[in-house]
Amino acid sequence: MPGNTPQSIFEKLWNSHHILTDEGESLMYVDVALAQENTLHAFTALEKANRKVLHPQQIFAFTDHYVPTTGRARGPAGIPDTGIRNMVIDMQDMARKYGVTLFGMDHEHQGIMHIVPPEQGIIQPGLFVIGNDSHTSTHGAFGCLAYGVGASEFAHVMATQALWQRKPKSMRITIDGRLGFGVSAKDVILALIAKIGVDGATGYAMEYAGSTISALSMEGRMTICNMSIEAGGRVGLIAPDDKTYAYVEGRPYAPKCRAWQQALDGWRALVTDAGTQFDKEVSLDASAIAPTATWGVSPEQALPVTGVVPDPASIKDDKKRSEYETALEYMALRPGMGLQDIKLDRVFIGSCTNGRIEDLRAAAEVAQHGKAVVPTWVVPGSMSVMRQAEAEGLDKVFIKAGFEWRDPGCSMCTAINGDYLQPGERCASTSNRNFRNRQGPGGRTHLVSPAMAAAAAIKGHLTDVREMLR
Ligand code: SF4
Repeated sequence: MPGNTPQSIFEKLWNSHHILTDEGESLMYVDVALAQENTLHAFTALEKANRKVLHPQQIFAFTDHYVPTTGRARGPAGIPDTGIRNMVIDMQDMARKYGVTLFGMDHEHQGIMHIVPPEQGIIQPGLFVIGNDSHTSTHGAFGCLAYGVGASEFAHVMATQALWQRKPKSMRITIDGRLGFGVSAKDVILALIAKIGVDGATGYAMEYAGSTISALSMEGRMTICNMSIEAGGRVGLIAPDDKTYAYVEGRPYAPKCRAWQQALDGWRALVTDAGTQFDKEVSLDASAIAPTATWGVSPEQALPVTGVVPDPASIKDDKKRSEYETALEYMALRPGMGLQDIKLDRVFIGSCTNGRIEDLRAAAEVAQHGKAVVPTWVVPGSMSVMRQAEAEGLDKVFIKAGFEWRDPGCSMCTAINGDYLQPGERCASTSNRNFRNRQGPGGRTHLVSPAMAAAAAIKGHLTDVREMLR
C-alpha cells in the first residue's frame, strides 16, 4: 500500500494486528479476549485437545449471563437451579484451572463482560478485543477493533492468541446535530437501525463520526457501539479523544507514569485521515430524533414514541409486508394504534447496552416523578455501578418509586439466569434485542432508553418521557 494513502481508524487497527494473509483471510493478533459462562465449551475444547492457554493474562472471564440477580449470599452454591448452578461453577473452575483472570460471582467487581472491562481499564484504544458474545462491539467506543466470536474461534484464540478473519468493508456513519430534550444515545442508535435496517451494515466495519458522537459521554458511545451488531455491523468504532483518555486514565489496568505518556502518543494517531474513502457512507440528523421505541420483533422496527403502529397493508415490498404482519401477530398489536397506548406488564432497566451509571442516573431522574404501576427491575451492569449508584442514593430513589433494586448481571436481557417474562407478558426494556422469545418464551419486548423505561414504569404503558420531565 502506498505510504501516503489516507487511512481510516479501522484500516490502521487492522494493519497493526495483521500477521499474514492466506486465501483471502488474515491471521490477526488478538490483544484481549473476554469470556462468559458459555465459553465453558471453548475451555472444554482446549481440555480435550490437551492444549494450554498461551497468554492467560490476556484472557478475562466473567460470570454474568447465568448469575441470579437476587439471593446471592451463598455464592454459586446457593443457585437453586442445578443447570444454571453448574454453568457458573464449571466455568469458574475452568477459568481457575487455565489461570485466566476471573471476575467470578463473588468478585468485588463482578458484572457484565462489556461493562467491567472498560471500568477496569482493560479496554484501551488501539486494541483488538474479541469476546464470546456478539455485543463485544461495545468496546469499539474506545477506538478498538472489537467483535464477538463463537466458542471454537475463542478456543483458537486461547491456544494461539491469534484468529483467522476475513476483512470487512468500511462504512462511516456521520451523525451531526444537537440531541433534543429527553433524547439519548439509545434513541440515536434505534433511529439509525430503523433507517438502515438490521442488515444495513452487514459485512462492514462501522465508524461513527460527527458532532453528535463527539458530544456523547463514553457511556453513550458504548451504547451506540454496543448495538452496531443489531444493524449487522461486525465492528462499531469511534475515534478516541480526550474524553476517552480521561475515562481510561487511573483505572487499574491502564498504563501508568511513562507508559501512560507513550500510550497516549500512540492513541493520538488513531484518527481517520482526511480524504479517506469509505465503501459506504450514511448520515443522520440527530436534531430530528425523538425518544424512540420498538413496536416489532427486530430493532429496525422502531418509531418515535409519538408514532402509530404501522399498517402492513401500506408496505409494497412483499417480504417486508410479511415481516410486519408476523411481527404484529407475535406482538399482539393493531395497525394504527398509538405506541403510547401499548400497555405493559413489566419494565427492565439494565444490560450491557444501558446498565451503566449514567443510565441509572437518567432512569432515577424520571423515577422521582411517581410510582411504578407495573413490576420494574433495575439491574446494575456491575458491582462497581451498583456501589456508585448506592453512594449517590439512586437505589433509594428507585425503591421509593416502587422499582426493584437487584444484583448485577445480564438478567432479563437474555433470560437464561432464571429472570424471564411469562408467555404473553409485555416488557419495556433497555436491552438490545426484541427478538421473539428473547426475554422468555412468548415474551414481548419493546426496546427503549433508560429514561423512557422509567417513564413507562410509572405510566404502565409506553409514554413520551419528555411530557413527564416537562
Ligand atoms: S446484557 Fe445481554 S447482550 Fe449484553 S452480554 Fe449480557 S446477554 Fe449479552
